[in-house]
Amino acid sequence: MSFDPVRVRAEFPIFSRKIRGKEIAYLDSAATSQKPAAVIDAMDAFYREHNSNVHRGAYVLSEEATAMFEETRGKVAKFIGAPSGDGIVYVRNTTEAINLVACAWGRKYLKAGDEILLTEMEHHSNFVPWHQLVKDKGLVLRHIPITDEGRLDLAALDRVLTKKTRLVSICHASNVLGTINPVAEITAAAHRAGALCLVDGAQAVPHMRVDVAAIGCDFYAFSAHKMCGPTGIGVLWARPELLKDMDPFMVGGETIVEVHLDHSTFRDPPHRYEPGTPAIAEVAGLEAAIAWLEKTGIDAVHAHEASVTAYALKRLLEIPRLTFYGPRTGPRGGVACFTLDDLHPHDLATCLDQDNVCIRAGHHCAQPLMRRLGVVATARASFYVYTLPSEIDRLIESLNRAREFFGCR
Ligand code: PMP
Repeated sequence: MSFDPVRVRAEFPIFSRKIRGKEIAYLDSAATSQKPAAVIDAMDAFYREHNSNVHRGAYVLSEEATAMFEETRGKVAKFIGAPSGDGIVYVRNTTEAINLVACAWGRKYLKAGDEILLTEMEHHSNFVPWHQLVKDKGLVLRHIPITDEGRLDLAALDRVLTKKTRLVSICHASNVLGTINPVAEITAAAHRAGALCLVDGAQAVPHMRVDVAAIGCDFYAFSAHKMCGPTGIGVLWARPELLKDMDPFMVGGETIVEVHLDHSTFRDPPHRYEPGTPAIAEVAGLEAAIAWLEKTGIDAVHAHEASVTAYALKRLLEIPRLTFYGPRTGPRGGVACFTLDDLHPHDLATCLDQDNVCIRAGHHCAQPLMRRLGVVATARASFYVYTLPSEIDRLIESLNRAREFFGCR
């Protein structure tokens, strides 16, 4: 069946909600996506019919929960082009996945003077874990700069990627600029320099076909809540040979083989990195989200978003005194960041809320990028599989009302 955004949207119960008697235009999917009934039902069914803890129970409920939990690793792996579920570690979100690498890999293998290469467009989740490690270990951080158009300045790579670089950690798609980075090319450059590569896929996996084998990276991180799945569950994929030798990250029950009064021994991955009772119903939700995206067709999702984004850019750029941040041409993600005249983005977002147009305003957890762009904050509209062109029209109408209200020129 061909992709029909209206039919797709009808699968999301939240869109039948009215606020102030009017439908919502949800343009904040880069923060978190809405959830189709299939995902909500899968979690409900888990609690109603299968709820029990995983791994330890010698009874049917626990065997069912454990089978679902473990089999989902293979489904996640297939979805991102990984060879098997062996490299799939369940975490809470992208932030935890990056922290896991910084602690479990970084603390074990990095020493004073080693370099980590990030970019200027990273989310705080891909800055702060490295800042901590830099402080603890005496590492050096370097950054790939961005061009004025909002793309990575790859001409600078030779300068910032050095013989001392041990890890390159970059976002696949920017949550501010919408830029899609050439992660395969950067991974290849990292490997040539003898470094590993971590890709933050929080803004990529929900929106486009991702193939970690084709990218060639060593670590790949993403969150379920941005891809129609629940909060509280995310994924770190890592090459299994790396997981095999890394130290545990957080420890406790589930991670161990034996505990003695004075020491413990640890299990093989992925369980070594999954302390305590995991987010089991959330894994059922993640499984359902992947099945839903596969049924809908991730290429169709991407194509739909590309057309909605192109329409949004065209309409936004017609607004006088609107400053747009990020590439205007070429393949890009479905986020549109802008400022309008000298209005504070928070005032703008509050004004749009009166029309039930939900956008985000602020630094988008990317303060270094905001500094590079010369702003403290921007407004951001972001789009997904269920976004309709009519919602873009509502955004534009509401922005025009805000211009009048604030007396913009
Ligand atoms: N990286 C990017 C590019 C993001 O957009 C986000 C979420 N805004 C994150 C990391 C962090 O994701 P989470 O909050 O789910 O850990």
